[in-house]
Amino acid sequence: MGSASSAYRMIYLDVDGRIQKVVFSRFCSPCDIKELFCTATGLSRNTTISLLDSTGAMVSIDPTMPNNSERSPYKVVPITGGQLADKEELFQNVLTQVAEQFSSRWSYFRLEGMKVVEIEKCRSDIKKLREEMASRNNSSFLDDNKKLTPRRDVPSYPKYMLSQQTIDALRKPAFDVWLWESNEYHLSQETVEALRQPIFDVWQWEPNELCIHDNYRNNPFHNFRHCFCVTQMMYSMIYLCNLQEKFTQVDILILMTAAVCHDLDHPVYNNTYQINARTELAVRYNDISPLENHHCAVAFQIFSQPDCNIFANFDPEAFKQIRQGTITLILATDMARHGEILDSFKQKVDNFDFTNEEHVTCLKMVLIKCCDISNEVRPMEVAEPWVDCLLEEYFMQSDREKAEGLPVAPFMDREKVTKPTAQIGFIKFVLIPMFETVMKLFPQIEEVMVQPLRESRDRYEELKQIDDAMNEVQKKKSENLTMGGKKK
Ligand SMILES: [Zn+2]
Repeated sequence: MGSASSAYRMIYLDVDGRIQKVVFSRFCSPCDIKELFCTATGLSRNTTISLLDSTGAMVSIDPTMPNNSERSPYKVVPITGGQLADKEELFQNVLTQVAEQFSSRWSYFRLEGMKVVEIEKCRSDIKKLREEMASRNNSSFLDDNKKLTPRRDVPSYPKYMLSQQTIDALRKPAFDVWLWESNEYHLSQETVEALRQPIFDVWQWEPNELCIHDNYRNNPFHNFRHCFCVTQMMYSMIYLCNLQEKFTQVDILILMTAAVCHDLDHPVYNNTYQINARTELAVRYNDISPLENHHCAVAFQIFSQPDCNIFANFDPEAFKQIRQGTITLILATDMARHGEILDSFKQKVDNFDFTNEEHVTCLKMVLIKCCDISNEVRPMEVAEPWVDCLLEEYFMQSDREKAEGLPVAPFMDREKVTKPTAQIGFIKFVLIPMFETVMKLFPQIEEVMVQPLRESRDRYEELKQIDDAMNEVQKKKSENLTMGGKKK
């Protein structure tokens, strides 16, 4: 209690003859302290500086730096030109510094239990730095693949500790999955324990779920982050629709297991490619949902290992039910079956009976389908990067199809598709009709899931209008050029 003062350092600076006292925590990083010195001397916070004592000797800037007094203040000297001429190098340096800061803070706060506050500070530091870099450099070096991330109005939240705030965040469709780094998927025991809490007792997720993680490939779209998103959306739908009261615990277990496993070992290229290219998977599964069959098979191969058998405590009859239920749900994620499954649900929804097994199975199929393609339910800043990931995967496929002389779907062709054209039809004709059907049963999803879909549709339609207008202008320009050429 009494050691508060020792947690702080006090340094005196000479700012144009005036003494400026600077106080900082001894847990601050050198980068933080530099920034503080810059601010104290009226410099922009990312200025490269050196610190000189009264004899002109350079003083290292770090939390253990030597004390001084009001009578021997340090002088802050900005370093200009020379080594940081290249803007890009500057940008990289800043990012590297932040990354270092992030990892050093992380290892420290891992021990100290104050990580949440610091991670949030790092995050806002990164945001501020990016904004500052952008404002200083206009757009000259931030083009193409160095685009700035969009401003986020989605609330951020601590994650490792799974505080009540995080649990609440995970329950919302607006959850921002991009705030989780890929290394954060390796869950600590603490997290595993906490993850169990909001769901129910039967959930026996052990650290060897890494078997699941390791069996997702590092694809642009169909990777573990996508699996995480789908599972989180499932969790939030269960919570939102109060399904734990309507379904049995085994049904909830099936929903969550299927979500976690639904894209295991996805090989990037979709069923159409598998079938057209006559791949091993297509041959093995006779062209019938080869990918979904494969995801299921990999899942149950993992569960068959004694270390990974999360169902070990179920009796054979219950296991059979879980296995069958999970397989049914994963197979339902084949979009080739979209019309069939949605039609079947539409026939049941007006007289839905939670005691009718066929009705419940059909609803579970629709739920996993909703979660699987739910990115556009999320706020724009969260959803939009997924479109880029998906297009990247599509383009990988269409490039390969072209190279192998196979048919190419227009929606995958980099020559034909744009973000708005890709999204508008999908939102209008696939997502909205499906979510509106689910809304008949669970009106509470309108505000948090259906409304964002409508807004996303409107936004992409606006974007398309802009695209069209730009194309029109381009077309006119080139026409004029040709006409001008002919006159000469
Ligand atoms: Zn999926």
